[in-house]
Amino acid sequence: QEILLEVRNLQKYFNVGGGVVKAVSDVTFDVKRGETLGVVGESGCGKSTMGRTILRLYEATGGEVLFEGKDVHRANPRELKKLRRDMQMIFQDPYASLNPRMTVADIIGEALDLHRLATGAKRRERIQELLHLVGLKPDHMNRFPHEFSGGQRQRIGIARALAVEPKFIVCDEPISALDVSIQAQVVNLLGELQDKMGLTYLFIAHDLSMVKHISDRVAVMYLGKIAELAEGETLYANPLHPYTQALLSAIPIPDPEVERKRQRIVLKGDVPSPMNPPSGCHFRTRCPHAMEACAKVEPVWREAEPGHFVACHLYDRNVMGASVRKMNHL
Ligand code: SF4
Ligand code: MG
Repeated sequence: QEILLEVRNLQKYFNVGGGVVKAVSDVTFDVKRGETLGVVGESGCGKSTMGRTILRLYEATGGEVLFEGKDVHRANPRELKKLRRDMQMIFQDPYASLNPRMTVADIIGEALDLHRLATGAKRRERIQELLHLVGLKPDHMNRFPHEFSGGQRQRIGIARALAVEPKFIVCDEPISALDVSIQAQVVNLLGELQDKMGLTYLFIAHDLSMVKHISDRVAVMYLGKIAELAEGETLYANPLHPYTQALLSAIPIPDPEVERKRQRIVLKGDVPSPMNPPSGCHFRTRCPHAMEACAKVEPVWREAEPGHFVACHLYDRNVMGASVRKMNHL
């Protein structure tokens, strides 16, 4: 499968009150054309910042992002404008991201105008077509955001993102703020649109159960780093990183028989501050398997088995002298 987006050693630091917050520190991965890559992590782990830095809504502190081979962070204004069409974002809070004083037609039309995609009657037709695409009625176009439900507002946000015919969309917790009953509808819509338009998604969510059914591959983030990345099926069946194992053990299993016999992995303590992350492995203060090496040496991001990436000394032959196969039975 063709690679659409390459993220190489991406860093995003913020200077805050005399300190430095390492929101994203050194993440490397690819996104394949047409896939959904789920990104999961607790709030504050850097997943939204990573999404925004990929789109260059934030300037990167280091590393690079290549979209179809083009360096996003070194693009000149003309190239960046083109990239802004190709790469879009859907926000967590559809209400906050929609201007309350603009009608739906203005909101979607603004995106069309910015890239000079349609004028006059064509523009109006295109707005109606986009509303239809996301399951809203053409006569909704003259209404204001507050006249819609949360799910409908998210549909407006999706229509706005689609207006410029993007190839890649960062979906930043697009369903987290919605009622559970509405979440599936929006997820289904995103799936249909992906098939119809050949879209590629980076889908950010705060827990693994939320991305399970929509992601082809899943990345797990912890304190500014990606701990593990694999095909969804592989990750859910055979998590390698102790953090992923803990997250998965917290998801209830519907079968009460199985659920009763299951061992929960309870993590001690809280997530440390990204201003002062632990030395060595960021996860070591909470890891049930932490060893001496974990405080001294930062684990390398490596492909433990084909397509399955992990940053943990348990899978590092040099540190542990152990094979991955052996470790799978942890
Ligand atoms: Fe745990 Fe060490 Fe692996 Fe970090 S490197 S996840 S502390 S075993
Ligand atoms: Mg967020």
